[in-house]
Amino acid sequence: MTTRRIGVMGGTFDPIHHGHLVAASEVAYSFKLDTVLFAPTGQPWHKSPAPGATPEERYLMTVLATSTDDRFDVTRVDIDREGPTYTVDTLRDLRAQYELNFPNLETEWFFITGADALADIMEWRGPQEVIALAHIIGVTRPGHEMRHPDLPADSWTLLEIPAMAISSTNIRARAGRGEPINYLVPESVANFIGKRKLYQ
Ligand code: ATP
Ligand code: MG
Repeated sequence: MTTRRIGVMGGTFDPIHHGHLVAASEVAYSFKLDTVLFAPTGQPWHKSPAPGATPEERYLMTVLATSTDDRFDVTRVDIDREGPTYTVDTLRDLRAQYELNFPNLETEWFFITGADALADIMEWRGPQEVIALAHIIGVTRPGHEMRHPDLPADSWTLLEIPAMAISSTNIRARAGRGEPINYLVPESVANFIGKRKLYQ
């Protein structure tokens, strides 16, 4: 049986930026992952419905941003599921999908999250099931202290990555004020935001 190591990076990606891409790339390298699957959330449950991009636009921007990297792929599992997104559902659905489509593939699953999201891990729905489904990799993020999650030591790993002080919140605010977002997001994403007049 062939074994594949797959990382899942969940996020709102409103919009996707170079902080997300560096995190995914660094984890892929350090953990010898074959693939990182970006999973844009459905209606984000922890955020108020602020004027952002639609789920379909967030999905499209994620595809644009990842299209030039062979290691990266995008999944629609969360976009296509009704209701709010919970990590446990993302992992359960992806694992079921892979077992069905690739019965001869043995997969090892990893879930990638930034320091801020890692801190909330115990508030996620079903943290015990999450760690049964995937090994958690927490990456450093500027402005967010890495708080150790209250989880068994062998269920998660911290990885120090180059500091990218970029957030989607800041990019939306910049776009709203007509300030440049070049080089914070891939060129294709900046063009898409301009073309659709997002975040204005
Ligand atoms: P928002 O400001 O809207 O919350 P965001 O920049 O935090 O957007 P998300 O889509 O919320 O982006 O984040 C998805 C995942 O990527 C989370 O696990 C988050 O911690 C991580 N992440 C986002 N930006 C960075 C960054 N600059 N460095 C490291 N990790 C990051
Ligand atoms: Mg965030």
